[in-house]
This record gives sequence, structure tokens and C-alpha cells, in this order.
Amino acid sequence: MKLHEYQSKAIFARHGIPIPKGSVADNAEQARQIAAQIGKKVVIKAQVLVGGRGKAGGVKLAATPNEAEELADQILEMNIKDLPVRKVLVDEALDLAREIYLGIVVDRAARCATMVASSAGGIEIEEVARTTPEKIMRVSIDPVFGLQEYQARALGFAIGIDKAHVREFTSIAMGLYRAFVDVDASLAEINPLVVTGDNQLIAADGKIVLDDNALYRHPLLEELRDIDEESVPESQARKAGLSYVKLDGSIGCMVNGAGLAMATMDVIKFYGGEPANFLDIGGGAKADKVKIALGIILSDPNVKAVLFNIFGGITRGDEVARGIVDGLKDIKTNVPMVVRIVGTNAEEGRKILASAHMITAETLEEGAQKAVAAAKQK
Ligand code: GDP
Ligand code: MN
Repeated sequence: MKLHEYQSKAIFARHGIPIPKGSVADNAEQARQIAAQIGKKVVIKAQVLVGGRGKAGGVKLAATPNEAEELADQILEMNIKDLPVRKVLVDEALDLAREIYLGIVVDRAARCATMVASSAGGIEIEEVARTTPEKIMRVSIDPVFGLQEYQARALGFAIGIDKAHVREFTSIAMGLYRAFVDVDASLAEINPLVVTGDNQLIAADGKIVLDDNALYRHPLLEELRDIDEESVPESQARKAGLSYVKLDGSIGCMVNGAGLAMATMDVIKFYGGEPANFLDIGGGAKADKVKIALGIILSDPNVKAVLFNIFGGITRGDEVARGIVDGLKDIKTNVPMVVRIVGTNAEEGRKILASAHMITAETLEEGAQKAVAAAKQK
């Protein structure tokens, strides 16, 4: 779950990271009032959960409260990368002498969190990684000991921070790590971390991505979820307890079990197809869940075939098959459906599904091939 800039910066501030004075507004009049209160030049920033707002025209400087109102009005009308802007952050404008990148991500390969810093701040870090990878410095953080001050200091020196700023940089890095751990983030980044003309270090932008699997430990953060920013299928899936990730391919996947879902996607790719989604309907696969899952898959216009890959374990295959048939009753579609079902009572299950005009397969290979062929015919 992504947090907005203003939410991320509030968390940073709680961990001692300096942020600009400012406040969030959902209308232009409110933006004017905030600007008047700040009493100097402000920056108006679209609050949408995508990067590159600056480039898209969603970050603008305003010299007066009236100008703030005008610009807020314009920005609140915008869509940035298809997301409507519903709030703007009005922050005191900073005098940028230098823009630094500072972030923490989970590095799966290294099995730990990694702090990343770059002298090329302000630009998206992926862009820096592509064009000038030598400008990116990293340090692995031992999960037992946490980030050590000497590591943060070394990182500061490595990106060429002035000696006079190293102490502050270190304190911000330590704060960022505490914030990252405290909220169970998978990413926390400050881009840019600004060195101002009067030698202050301030987080001008903030981004936190929370680990959804740890959200149960943070009920207050879960309340911050911006349902506007979640696509309809995603929020339906979350509410139904389905793990769903939309992808760009044409073969919808309906699978019970996350590992099996991964394997299914691999086999589809192996036979030249592209999965349209990752979906784990979980154990049981009762009719109601199947129905919701299928509705979600079919709401994607790219889907040209659906592959059901069901393993009957504790759940019996015939029961799952009945769930699927029940679920299909209310859904009108001519998208071909291929089903491979194995395990407990698979034979009975297959019969039920064949009678429901589904293409059946004995093995995953066969099922994937049939789904790929069906998708190509459409
Ligand atoms: P992003 O494009 O979504 O990452 O939004 P940012 O908050 O990072 O803003 C983009 C760019 O706008 C920054 O890299 C800065 O160059 C500029 N910017 C942001 N805040 C200020 C500010 O207070 N003063 C000035 N002069 N520029 C700013
Ligand atoms: Mn930024």
C-alpha cells in the first residue's frame, strides 16, 4: 500500500526528519489560506500515488496566496497518469542548492534492507540507475543491528556531501531507517532531500510503500488507504480476500494456492502465452469466491481465455468444480475456459466441469497449451 507524499512526510517528521512547513488541501480556497498562513512563496503539489508529478505539471511554485489558489485550482483539475488529483499539498517553497536521493528498499537478493543514496536527486532513481549507475551508492543493513551511524556517514561521504552537512545527513538517514522499520515499509524514500541555500537539509518529497502483509499491525495506517487510487478490481479482490495482481497478458488465471499460481504463470509463458493476472483464490474455492474472482478476471478486456488450475487437496475436486459451475451460472461470457483439476476427487470434478462446457485437461502442460491456443483463436 502506497502512502501519499503528505502522509509519508508526516511519518518522517515523527522520526526527526526535517520537512517543509505545509498542509494538505482538497480545494483551492483552502490552498490559498494555507499559503497565506505560511506567508511566503509556496509550492503546490498534486497528491497522487505516482512518481514524476513534477514533469507532468503537478508541482508548481506560487509567489502569493492568490496565485496559490489559482494553481491549486488548475492542479486539482488534473489527471496524472490517469489518476485524478483530489488533494494538493501546500508547502513552503525551498531554495534548492542541491538535490539528493536517499531511500531504503528491501533487497531480496541480499535478504536485507538496503540504503540507497545518490548525488543525482530530484530525478527518478530508475532513470539515474539507467543513465549514470555509478552515481548510486548502496549499503546493506544488518537486520539485527540496524543501520549504523558509520554506515550512514560513509554513504554521505560517498555521494560527496559537504563535511558540514554530514552530521545532519546521518541523522536524517537514521531517522529514515527508524521510520522504515516502525511502519513495516517495503520502501521509504526522500527524493529530493534538499540542501537549501542557507545550508539546511530538508525532505522536499516523500514516499512510503507499506508491506501489505504487515498492515494488520498498523490499523491506523490501514485507515489511510486511498480507495480512489486502487482500481475497482483490486479493491473487490482485497475485500473478497483474494490475492490478485493484474498483468498485461491475455490469459486469465484462476488458481488455488500462491505457489501453484506462480507455476501456472510460468507454464503459460513457456507455451508462448502471457498471463493476464496472478490470482490466488485460496483454499476452499466456494462458489461465491469463484464468482467474484471470475468477474474480476473477465472485467479485463485483454482476457481472451481463462485457465483454471485447481489442486484438490483437503478441498475435494468435485466441491471446487461445483463452486466453479455455480459461480459461472450468473456470468455470461463467451471467453473460452480451460480447466485442469487434479488431486482428491479430480475425476468427479472433471465430469462436472465437462458437462458445463469447459475444456478439460489432465495436466498443467496440456491445460496451458489449450488456453494459449484458445486465446490465439479469439
Ligand atoms: P515528483 O516529481 O513527483 O517526484 O515531485 P517532487 O516533490 O520531487 O518535485 C519535483 C521537483 O520539483 C523537485 O525535484 C524540485 O526540483 C522541484 N521542487 C519541489 N519542491 C520545490 C520547492 O520547494 N522549491 C523549488 N524551487 N523547487 C521544488
Ligand atoms: Mn520526487
